Amino acid sequence: MARILIVEDNPVNLELVMQLLEDDYELLVARDGAEGLETALTEQPDLILLDLSLPKKSGWEVCQEIRQQLGGQAMPMVALTAHAIKGDREKALESGFQAYVTKPIDEDLLFSTVERFLKR
Ligand SMILES: [Mg+2]
Repeated sequence: MARILIVEDNPVNLELVMQLLEDDYELLVARDGAEGLETALTEQPDLILLDLSLPKKSGWEVCQEIRQQLGGQAMPMVALTAHAIKGDREKALESGFQAYVTKPIDEDLLFSTVERFLKR
């Protein structure tokens, strides 16, 4: 079973994403950026869902540090963000994210985005 690391500090969003994915994937959870980075490096999950706005380290920083330490071919990262700012999508894709999902989370979109990278 593929392993997904969810890095999200909002309990409501975390619960939603976990319920959506828990039947099909093994889930790892981190609630701030520092914990997310450490878990990503030690566990090397198959995919990371990464909130951009996090305590301790932003999702931008976590993404950048994972790319620096593991390289560009490391696990795919999907940005989760409430900041649907024009240009953010392009910025995310340039920063090393493979995909970008805005909040409020569309469950079908999130699930199909994950499935694009992880064939069960
Ligand atoms: Mg957040």
